[in-house]
Amino acid sequence: MNNKEFRKHAHQLVDWMADYFEEVEDYPVKPNVQPGDILQKLPDEAPQKSESFEQQFKDFEDIIMPGITHWQSPNFMGYFPANTSYPSILAEMLTATLGAQCMSWLTSPAATELEEKVMEWLRKAIGLPEPFTGVIQSTASTSTLCALLMAREQITDFKVNEKGYPNDGTFTIYCSSETHSSIEKDVKIAGFGRQNLRKVSVDDKYAMDPSALEEAIRADLEKGFKPAAVVATIGTTGSTAIDPLKAIGEICSKYEIFLHVDAAFAGTALLLPERRWMNEGIEHADSFVFNPHKWMFTNFDCSAFYVKDEALLVRTFEIMPEYLKTPEDERVKNYRDWGIPLGRRFRALKLWFVMRSFGIEGLQQKIRQHITFAQYLKQEMEQHDDFELMAPVPLNTICFRFHPDYIDDEKKLNELNEKLLEQIQQSGQLFLTHTKLDGKYTIRIVLGNTNLEKHHVNEAWKLIQTLAQSLIE
Ligand code: PLP
Repeated sequence: MNNKEFRKHAHQLVDWMADYFEEVEDYPVKPNVQPGDILQKLPDEAPQKSESFEQQFKDFEDIIMPGITHWQSPNFMGYFPANTSYPSILAEMLTATLGAQCMSWLTSPAATELEEKVMEWLRKAIGLPEPFTGVIQSTASTSTLCALLMAREQITDFKVNEKGYPNDGTFTIYCSSETHSSIEKDVKIAGFGRQNLRKVSVDDKYAMDPSALEEAIRADLEKGFKPAAVVATIGTTGSTAIDPLKAIGEICSKYEIFLHVDAAFAGTALLLPERRWMNEGIEHADSFVFNPHKWMFTNFDCSAFYVKDEALLVRTFEIMPEYLKTPEDERVKNYRDWGIPLGRRFRALKLWFVMRSFGIEGLQQKIRQHITFAQYLKQEMEQHDDFELMAPVPLNTICFRFHPDYIDDEKKLNELNEKLLEQIQQSGQLFLTHTKLDGKYTIRIVLGNTNLEKHHVNEAWKLIQTLAQSLIE
């Protein structure tokens, strides 16, 4: 492809992209394909000779598009959103064009300095106090892994980095039974061992019970374990439960334990001053993560990771081979030492575009609207005799099940709701997902899509009621 062809196809693609957003609701949110359907349409070997862009794009439309789940449809209300927005997409186009490798200041000074600045903007916008300082990571899973590695190095005085694990004790990590699976994965990767992860019980709102946490820590200390880190969640994946950070933080301070806060999804709501109570006690935390790539209209991947002790972070990851040394090293931030990979994409650009295009007020307005929609739908469900709310709705995630009053059997209710979700997915009109709360099959609906409007919420609610009713007729 030459420059002239590139220009021509790029214009075509931008038109396609704009059309896509106009038509996204016409696609079935979940594609109607079976495992292997796409695979069998793809050739087994890569082409030996160049193929035209026209052919490539035709295959994209004919083979790939029918197998896409439309995360940007306002009718996608499953998992947590992975939002994008026009300014974010435009920034990604520039990022791809520049193809800058942002591992150190020298490899793209503007990328490093923009990252430094937007992370400060964001820190202030969500009310995170100094001396927290931020870096963009790929995901919350990676950010939490960085936090656990920092905790590991802190508690071993950097000995694991040097000598590997000592055999004079076992380190323990604490989170709640509702914590995201990435914490368990990170515990395995960081070498703590899954058996040494303590899943602390939760209260009736699915938030960590701080007295159970303290009990677990005490019991471990008595047995000779060394508590290394606690992970508190602001907005659990199941039901957006909010762990009581202040009480947890005080326990961590008392026992001198590293505290990491996982606010992957709900952190965006900290843009709203009236939601800052969720972060009360943050001064006790050592690190904090939230994902603008979930609810803050910024393309995946963009995870904002903040640490209180920059030196601890850098000392955990720093490595200095000759070929990476630069004359400016003493005066600049080299973000390759702030996390796991050496190579880094220029992710600050999309965050910059998003924050400037929406403005903090524009972001706040959207987030508030999503929460208002959820509170409205929550009320609708509360008032309906055949629907049951399964957890509080502090933000924009509603956990519910269909529960006609003549069905008491839990097994039957689980089956009924599993069937309901299946029908919702198959309809192609709405995409929801599920979890289990207290062992009960629970359907989740998350109202956080960039282009969500009230009528989408009403249509979703109507469809849920119609499909539920059809299951018992
Ligand atoms: N933590 C929480 C609370 C989450 O809900 C999720 C994903 O939904 C994660 C962590 C993992 O996020 P990521 O995909 O950025 O690793």
